[in-house]
Amino acid sequence: MDDLLNSLVNKGLRGETPTRDEALAVLRTTDDDLLDVVAAAGKVRRRWFGKRVKLNYLVNLKSGLCPEDCSYCSQRLGSEAGILKYTWLKPEEAAEAAAAGVQGGAKRVCVVASGRGPTDRDIDRVSKTIGAIKERNEDVEVCACLGLLSDGQAERLRQAGADAYNHNLNTSESTYGDICTTHTYEDRVETVKQARGAGLSPCSGLIAGMGETDEDLVEVAFSLRGLDADSVPVNFLLPFEGTPLAEEWNLTPQRALRILAMVRFVCPDVEVRLAAGREVHLRSLQPLALHLANSLFLGDYLTSEGQAGKADLEMIADSGFEVEGAETTTLPEHRREESGAAPHERVAVRLRGTGTELPPNA
Ligand code: SF4
Repeated sequence: MDDLLNSLVNKGLRGETPTRDEALAVLRTTDDDLLDVVAAAGKVRRRWFGKRVKLNYLVNLKSGLCPEDCSYCSQRLGSEAGILKYTWLKPEEAAEAAAAGVQGGAKRVCVVASGRGPTDRDIDRVSKTIGAIKERNEDVEVCACLGLLSDGQAERLRQAGADAYNHNLNTSESTYGDICTTHTYEDRVETVKQARGAGLSPCSGLIAGMGETDEDLVEVAFSLRGLDADSVPVNFLLPFEGTPLAEEWNLTPQRALRILAMVRFVCPDVEVRLAAGREVHLRSLQPLALHLANSLFLGDYLTSEGQAGKADLEMIADSGFEVEGAETTTLPEHRREESGAAPHERVAVRLRGTGTELPPNA
């Protein structure tokens, strides 16, 4: 155990990725070793992000009514989950919601719409929304999450002022077909690449707890490293009634921490974000997760009940961490672009020994 953790810490401090076997071994450690694993991954987290916690706030622009069949999603085709269903918030309404998040300390606002992907008219709408948000909150980063992108749409979002684009890989390529049949893993990879190509900071993460194997989790973490995502949201499945995964309660708080530690070791110098399901699955161990992740969604997100923003801020302060201010750049210097351009235009600098080849189909 000591050898494994020493190797992981040494690599993480150098910004290097572990071997897949080492990543797998993290997931297979016992509960007795949990605090040692958290402490080791915590060293890597502090090396690259200090005690800073970046807050993100989610604004749902459009909810439900999706034609896709992602089995984890309460908004999927035919979902019987009792969620709000509505079409497009007006730009001013979205800007108002965003302002509430910024007031709570959020540095990034994520504008999310359900659906397979946006039409060009939707891009017009979202562009206006981004404009309205930036008008009220000049310094806030805006990340769009609108599904699969068609040619030219990422560029239009970038021109409208978007800083980042989120599209999760969710699970390993080998099991993607088990969770969704209406689009493919390759479609998702392609959208992340389009976002990057347009100068948007790529945000892409995973969902744990869908019945996947340890190997699947390691595979998707390495794929995200291979795609060079700047931020990696780690979601824990919320098994919504009325969806095919309603019975999948597979996670314990300890397992959730091991998953976060594994992702931190595989992606040592990128923003690892606590996302959906953190309250339900980490429960009273949430403060320990701050030693692994350097970012979280504040308050409510998507259709689930989130912890109130105030409680998050107290948890951060009580755990000895601090909210990252607008003046601080989240990513370590070597990941920012050279010569002082904006973060989303940065040239990714690959680190030594990352072993981060793109997936064969990417
Ligand atoms: S495309 Fe998005 S909104 Fe639609 S079912 Fe899949 S995850 Fe849910």
